[in-house]
Amino acid sequence: MEKEPDINKAIRQHADMDDFFTGGFAPAVGKNKQKKNKAGRPADKIKVELEKIDDEVRRCRKCRLGSLRSNAVPGEGNPNARIMFVGEAPGADEDAQGRPFVGRAGQLLDKIIIACGLKRTDVFIANILKCRPPENRDPRPDEIINCFPYLQRQIEIINPEIIVALGAPAAKTLLNTNKSIGQLRGLFHEYYAGLDRPPIKLMPTYHTAYLLRSYTHENRERVWEDMKKVLTELGLPIPQRAKQ
Ligand code: URA
Repeated sequence: MEKEPDINKAIRQHADMDDFFTGGFAPAVGKNKQKKNKAGRPADKIKVELEKIDDEVRRCRKCRLGSLRSNAVPGEGNPNARIMFVGEAPGADEDAQGRPFVGRAGQLLDKIIIACGLKRTDVFIANILKCRPPENRDPRPDEIINCFPYLQRQIEIINPEIIVALGAPAAKTLLNTNKSIGQLRGLFHEYYAGLDRPPIKLMPTYHTAYLLRSYTHENRERVWEDMKKVLTELGLPIPQRAKQ
């Protein structure tokens, strides 16, 4: 028999999370101006290039997931984003809306972004897979091989200063490694968008869905430590805890 959800625990968890990722930190309002894209291209030109990829993704039938989806989820955000978040694959909510990170894991990601003194519209959010795997199973190698080039092109066009890889599938795919997320997180790695380009710094951290499942102070603290490193690297202020 399925266990009854513990409502009190869920409410407590939600309130704690709010405090940890938003209420407990004063956002650095007005200090998060976007720099010009490193490649110096105007945002509207980048937008057109990204929309071209979106169209291709929405028409894509390279793997079976293309015929199972309600909506493809190409990704969204600021074409001049300094930070790009990359997750694993759309879930049920994302599949229904055609937008990345809009379910529970997405709401937690929003809180993390706000805790960093940023807005969702400041960053770009995408996934390794653009379509939802059935029952949210792990992406299969053939699906990644077919889908990853879309993300590679998005990264190349946006040219963010930092990529935050959320969870093992994103970190392993982007870094082409088999190391665990525990080994990878907390340190900057390098993502190569092309041999003629300087590498992009990549910070792996825990996926917000994992955080929701494994709700410990240590895990939230680890993600916050990783994000503080990202803010420092970008020269952005680290919002202070408003209450201790
Ligand atoms: N998990 C992901 O990895 N991506 C989403 O878009 C939503 C949940």
